[in-house]
Amino acid sequence: MSSRSQTLAIAGGQPVLRRSDYRNWPLITADDRRFINEVLDSGVVAGGTAPQSSALEKEWAAYVGAKHCLTTVSGTSALHMALAAFGIGPGDEVITSAFTFLASASCVLHQNAIPVFVDIDPKTYCMDPAKLEAAITPRTKAIIPVHIQGLPADMDPILEIAKKHKLFVIEDACQAHGAEYKGRKVGTMGQIGTFSLNNTKNLCGGEGGLFTTDDENLLKKGVLLRCFGDEVDEVSHRRIYNASILGYMYRNQELPAALARGQLLHLDENNAVRIANANNLSRELARLPGVIPPHCPPGYKHVYWMYNVRFDPAKAGVNCSARTFRIAVEKALYKEGLLIGQWQTMPVPAQDLFQSKLGYGSSHFPWSVNESKGIIYDYNPAQFPVAQALCDSYTVVYGVHPPNGQELMEKIVAGFRKVWARLDEVVAHAEDAIYPGADAKLLGTG
Ligand SMILES: *Cc1c(COP(=O)(O)O)cnc(C)c1O
Repeated sequence: MSSRSQTLAIAGGQPVLRRSDYRNWPLITADDRRFINEVLDSGVVAGGTAPQSSALEKEWAAYVGAKHCLTTVSGTSALHMALAAFGIGPGDEVITSAFTFLASASCVLHQNAIPVFVDIDPKTYCMDPAKLEAAITPRTKAIIPVHIQGLPADMDPILEIAKKHKLFVIEDACQAHGAEYKGRKVGTMGQIGTFSLNNTKNLCGGEGGLFTTDDENLLKKGVLLRCFGDEVDEVSHRRIYNASILGYMYRNQELPAALARGQLLHLDENNAVRIANANNLSRELARLPGVIPPHCPPGYKHVYWMYNVRFDPAKAGVNCSARTFRIAVEKALYKEGLLIGQWQTMPVPAQDLFQSKLGYGSSHFPWSVNESKGIIYDYNPAQFPVAQALCDSYTVVYGVHPPNGQELMEKIVAGFRKVWARLDEVVAHAEDAIYPGADAKLLGTG
């Protein structure tokens, strides 16, 4: 290697990777075109019971092993429908994980109930079942475990605690299509499972969502909630424009459903590529002192929606805070051409919405329902030290999705090795005006 190629890119050297080394997600195939052409040729573009949506519901239910499935307009709407189907409302509390996407908690506010957060397990980054029971109160109605970044939550103890306290379980499987926990597919272990079909997710429809259940009553409730609460005449199957409950407009459309069907035919093979890429990265990155690859416990199938690494400055032999080290390393790797950067930057309860508790105008509703009785929700970030420590020290290495493969993974590893050989220089650049992250096109957004 010439000395110029050894000079870190952050110090003016040649980067290891170029953007053209990365291929974008989603991977479009002839199957996508076939189903989308069926829509265009048929002229049927919408409708809750239209052919593509109905077929996707059957195919997804069969894939995960659920009795019923409904397509929805988003993962968030599927979560909201689940809470509404259980009749959760003002004054009720719903427990979710402190490290997740906002929608796992905002769906609770959409139903005018109050989110309560549980800290995460330091290895899996999913809800820590050992901390769950302490969060349960007489007002708790449901638990929303999140299968984070493709890894299932530890469902057995969660289901046991839910049973003991008579709580509903809604799985947020929006990041984990095809993931498995002890032989069971995620989305089939709680009473309701929810999935997102947004462009970034392992199963992509552009946008959309899926709601799965084995319970016929929950299915019927879901059908009503998805379409304004409007009743349908049992004989003519026509809408009678008489809403029996408060519902929403959460129907999906035929084009996203068609794309999701095409993608579903390749979900397992695409997940296998993610797993192989992740395993390759983990094997090599684990050799670098202070790099902590993602953990997948025995009996779990992780489908790597995102590939997460953590950094430990002490193990890397660098004397600075975890946060400064992570920021410095991210910048150095980004300058080497790696698409790298954080997803969530803080535990969800640390977000302004929960700190201000201003959800609907200035009224502090729905928290005010219980706060008026002296029950306080302070969302103090200090209650979630494990999630906070994760947010200080992790980053996402983008590009594990297909069609990226071994060649890209080797270049990513080469970038890490180069930076790790000169870690002493890296921390000096922690304050440089460099903004790591992936461009939107990498995951199919314009
Ligand atoms: C993506 C996501 C959602 C929401 O899905 P949308 O389709 O974007 O509404 C919910 N929960 C988690 C954990 C997610 O990652």
